[in-house]
Amino acid sequence: MITDLDRIKEILQKAKIKPTYLRMRLLKYLLEKKEHPTGKMIYQVLKKELPTISLTSIYNNLELFAQKGLVKIILLDPKEIRFNGKKGHHHFFCEKCQRIIDLTINCPLIKKKKIYGHLIKDWDGYFFGICKDCQKDG
Ligand SMILES: [Zn+2]
Ligand SMILES: [Zn+2]
Repeated sequence: MITDLDRIKEILQKAKIKPTYLRMRLLKYLLEKKEHPTGKMIYQVLKKELPTISLTSIYNNLELFAQKGLVKIILLDPKEIRFNGKKGHHHFFCEKCQRIIDLTINCPLIKKKKIYGHLIKDWDGYFFGICKDCQKDG
């Protein structure tokens, strides 16, 4: 049976990244989490399991993952860069609770492989406003 970490290892090897334990844990975290964590948030969680890691090593590896297309950088939060392990959806940023929420929108442009001759590999639409939970709070 293929365990989770074996699958993660394969993803890393396919991307030509040496699968160290930290990298495997980092990518697993990003693929499993629905929220869109900052580097610091990830550091706080992984530090409990890997007490020797540094914030710098987290950021360096996130940058590497982003370069290889394994994670996506989300520039919605004006205070901090967030990361997303999953691709192919749009994002909504709530200005009240600062949450980033995934939006699946059927956009006819995405179904095309090219727009104005440009080859599309990935997409991300940014939306800003107040989420439905915060609207209830008044
Ligand atoms: Zn909100
Ligand atoms: Zn997302």
